[in-house]
Amino acid sequence: MKRYRKLILVSNRLPFTAKEKNGAFRYTQSVGGLTTGMSAFLQSSGDGSPLFDDYVWVGWPGGTIGKNSQSALRKEVLERFKSHPVFLTVQEMELFYLGFCNETIWPLFHYFPSLTTYREDFWNQYRKVNETFAEAVAEIAGPDDIVWVHDYQLMLTPGLLKKKIPQVPVGFFLHIPFPSFEIFRLIPGAWRREILQGLMGADLLGFHTYEYTENYLRCVLRILGEAHTMGNIQMRDRLVKAGTFPMGIDVERFTRAAESPDIRAESRQLRDSLSVEKIILSVDRLDYTKGILNRLEAYEHLLESRKEHRRAVVLVMIVVPSRTGVRQYARMKKQIEETVGRINGRFGTVGWSPIIYQYRAVPFLSLVAYYAASDIALVTPLRDGMNLIAKEYIASRVDETGVLILSEMAGAAKELGEALVINPNYKDEIAAAMQEALTMPKEEQQRRNRVMRERITRYNVVRWANDFVGQLQSIRGLQQALSVKMLSSHARTGLLEHFARAQRKGIYLDYDGTLSPFVRRPEDAVPSQSIIKTLKTLAANESTMVTIISGRKRDFLEEWFKEIPVRLVAEHGVWVKEPEQEWTLMKPLNTVWKESVMPILEQHAERLPGSFVEEKEYSVVWHFRGADPEHGELMAAELMDTLIVFTANVEAQVLRGNKIVEVRSLGVTKGIVGEELIRRANHDFVLFIGDDWTDEDLFRVLPTTAYSIKVGMAKTHARWMVQGVEDVHALLGILAEHS
Ligand code: UDP
Repeated sequence: MKRYRKLILVSNRLPFTAKEKNGAFRYTQSVGGLTTGMSAFLQSSGDGSPLFDDYVWVGWPGGTIGKNSQSALRKEVLERFKSHPVFLTVQEMELFYLGFCNETIWPLFHYFPSLTTYREDFWNQYRKVNETFAEAVAEIAGPDDIVWVHDYQLMLTPGLLKKKIPQVPVGFFLHIPFPSFEIFRLIPGAWRREILQGLMGADLLGFHTYEYTENYLRCVLRILGEAHTMGNIQMRDRLVKAGTFPMGIDVERFTRAAESPDIRAESRQLRDSLSVEKIILSVDRLDYTKGILNRLEAYEHLLESRKEHRRAVVLVMIVVPSRTGVRQYARMKKQIEETVGRINGRFGTVGWSPIIYQYRAVPFLSLVAYYAASDIALVTPLRDGMNLIAKEYIASRVDETGVLILSEMAGAAKELGEALVINPNYKDEIAAAMQEALTMPKEEQQRRNRVMRERITRYNVVRWANDFVGQLQSIRGLQQALSVKMLSSHARTGLLEHFARAQRKGIYLDYDGTLSPFVRRPEDAVPSQSIIKTLKTLAANESTMVTIISGRKRDFLEEWFKEIPVRLVAEHGVWVKEPEQEWTLMKPLNTVWKESVMPILEQHAERLPGSFVEEKEYSVVWHFRGADPEHGELMAAELMDTLIVFTANVEAQVLRGNKIVEVRSLGVTKGIVGEELIRRANHDFVLFIGDDWTDEDLFRVLPTTAYSIKVGMAKTHARWMVQGVEDVHALLGILAEHS
């Protein structure tokens, strides 16, 4: 496996916050799952990662640094923290981070469309800041480096990087949910396309759950029209993979802390000072996605309906300040505090407060002490990409007691099925889960937690990151295997030299996707003036025979190429027309199958608006390029299945082409006809260019001395590949010049 020189991590925030005071810099550690998780991974690889020699982190240093101090900070953080700061002004941060990131993407991706703002100035700033990040990365990236971009703030960065440093592998991980198509499409059209295209710049895209991955793939299909096979999307120039990687935590760090005498003592002290039977813990950043209010209402409902818990239970609620500049967060804080006040006022007595509320960040060790002291962790987000608190609670329960109540709307619920999984929207259900948790026997608690602990230990954060980087590497390997086949300038020179020398040259060309790009309606895919001119020049030379070998009907080819002395082959080889002669049938074929197949295709055309049936003499085609792409792909799969069974005993063959399903008479293929024509002509130079898998029939049987070129990157029997129709035009243009 290739070892990279350095891993470049890119995230909005660096793992620390830098503040300038009296000419010196002061640093504090950043909070949050991304930075702590990645730090654990980097530390583990500090002793030698099998994947890379070194790393560097690119991100915003957490505060505005004056212009005059920037170079000093740059130098200092590179040495101390292996970090490259990206400097942003207060105004940039406002429109980018507080604006587009946290008033557009965050609420929408967490299914809060009513809280989502769509503003042009936010979007423009988002694009600009992504550009700034991409520039910063491109400046330091070398050819043997690998880049890993993180999260929703930087969704355009992969695409920008692919333009600036195409040779460097880029991975992207989304730490929040990727919403369903119906939600994603609420983003204005031009923006949502640009976001998806930005993401497609990555070679590997990672999501926390299968559901998010599926949502993403569906959006790519519906908005960009790109289908996938098992998460692999074949783009024009490369393969992109989308995969599921549920982020883990550094389980060992939590276990170690929880087992340490200091934390044991702190945890005991906590329990003593609260002097209740059971402690329920809730920890979140202040955020409307976390379901903090629902949780409070459920707790109130429990105290109301189950009097026995009064004075016996306490809810410790830690709310960590977050995004204090965003409007909704200030409103939320007020609501939470009012509700806490009301519940404490309603049920509290001398010596007992039902809720101990703290609005502050808690250092790591104290957090573990809280986890260790609590009988129940109450995690009830309305929507959460993963939720690490749930995993951290399980990791900190070293004796495997304790009950986790977990929202089914958190990505973590997919892995922690032994928790009490609840719907966070319904307070009765949360209260019932609390009741069950408060009365759950110890053995039952341990039985559940043991399984979860094992699972999160196995797929911990280091495994997660290694898995991601490892897969990024293998996808690059696949891409490279394909790119070896790209028509190099060396191969092109060889081809030209051979062409110039030869006396009996044969040029064989497919039409759709090779001479003409695909369009919505096949009748609109007419050859351009320039390609007609090129073909004319080539065909004018006595020593060159040009053959257009297509799946099209006779009349289409004749209409467009009648002026040029080229040979035409229609319907994949059924008909052949020599220049200035009539069409001849290659061999008699059976078409009795047509009348029973036609109704099946027509029925599909009726069922899917935008699709239609084309009838040729020896084949029938169902086209769905103009239809809803997702339904088109689904229906095509279904139709293939039906037709293959239906035609099993007749002389017809079913083909799946580019946005088409075709049934044709058995007995003739481009391979059979092409091979025959080439044999008869006794060429001393043969070139065949095609794009579709009907062309593979000919690629497969060409003489070894022939030049075969596939348009588009995919597995092929051709010797070389080019990216698109323009490359074909360019190559034929050069051949015409040499003619
Ligand atoms: N956390 C923290 N300081 C605190 C409370 C929590 O750093 O005062 C950490 C906690 O340990 C966890 C992360 O913040 O790793 C929260 O991650 P989670 O996925 O639960 O929510 P997010 O904040 O990413 O939405």
